[in-house]
Amino acid sequence: MKKRTTMLAAATALLAATSLAFGAGALAASRAPADGTGYTTNGYTDLGSFPEPQVCHGVEPKCYHDWGNFDPAANGYRLLVYTATAGPRHADLGPPLGPGLDPPLTAANVVQNALIRMGQENGFKVDWTEDVSVFASPATLFKYNAILFFTSRTVLDDAAQTALRVYIEGGGAFVGVHNAFGTEYNWDWFRGLLGGAELYDHAALQTATVDVLNPDDASTRGLPRTWTGEDEWYNLVPEPQGVRFLAAVDDSTLAQGQRGYYGDPGMGRFHPVTWCQYYDGGKAWLTTLGHDAGDWEANSAFPGAQYFQQMLVGGIESAMGMQPFCQGRGDGTRATFSAALRAAGARAVPDGSAEPPKPPAGRISLAAATHAMHDAECG
Ligand SMILES: [Zn+2]
Repeated sequence: MKKRTTMLAAATALLAATSLAFGAGALAASRAPADGTGYTTNGYTDLGSFPEPQVCHGVEPKCYHDWGNFDPAANGYRLLVYTATAGPRHADLGPPLGPGLDPPLTAANVVQNALIRMGQENGFKVDWTEDVSVFASPATLFKYNAILFFTSRTVLDDAAQTALRVYIEGGGAFVGVHNAFGTEYNWDWFRGLLGGAELYDHAALQTATVDVLNPDDASTRGLPRTWTGEDEWYNLVPEPQGVRFLAAVDDSTLAQGQRGYYGDPGMGRFHPVTWCQYYDGGKAWLTTLGHDAGDWEANSAFPGAQYFQQMLVGGIESAMGMQPFCQGRGDGTRATFSAALRAAGARAVPDGSAEPPKPPAGRISLAAATHAMHDAECG
């Protein structure tokens, strides 16, 4: 009971502090997002009007096609890693790879080597390529339980686009990491696969606090409720929509500010970094994190690396079907999440007490409020 009271107080304090921020007029340029959640947006405008993808998508498995295209009992679990870049190339991807499947790697191909290691440690086989011809036929893609992109710009030709789409429609799974959000800008179906979001710009590489919004997914289970990570904290336009949010960054902890190189003021109170969804018959697990080589190295001391890797492995495993996919309470969407937060605040009003709850010292944790909400729901 004591724990419950404490957590509810935290949720109340969050709401009180949020109201103060609005009331003080400190965020004169902010406006409430279209869904009326009341999140401060710090000048960021949630356009919220990206046309709905003309495919079934969301957090319900009704949008998934279980058509028997994968037989792990016979074939094991296999992941295809695609790291082709037609624009900026992250240093941790190393030198461009040669043609074909599984070309030679060097130690500088940090991301590819890390994913191979994660597969060895967790029971799935990894192939890797930067050769678009591997995507020439859907039949090739159906050999893989999931396909992971850490790419940039336009890296799929017409045949490859078709194969990827057929693969997803046939129950395939996509894992998008970091600059996957800077890929195929001019293909709306792909943007939908990402959750309706794209990289716009980002602030300086810096540490910040990551909040776990949903502790019940394979990718977030066992993680601390908050951790310190270091990344570029991609600013997204539009914001992801209709997905199950798993983790967010608290922009108030960005010491060097949140304004990006093309003027985005930062995403403010609600800045998601990891989410999942069913999409057009398939599955997609997505994270904007993973910029630095330190995120990927074994036993890395880079801030948050162990949690990033744990989260990523869970995301890959759930996409491939080794674990339940995209789990959580409620539908996990932004509107429901914020409505539940308000409801938790309403329940947290002290009964007959004249003593208002004190705001917590230091920052206001979205994770704490979220977990208070979950705890209150579960009694
Ligand atoms: Zn980056």
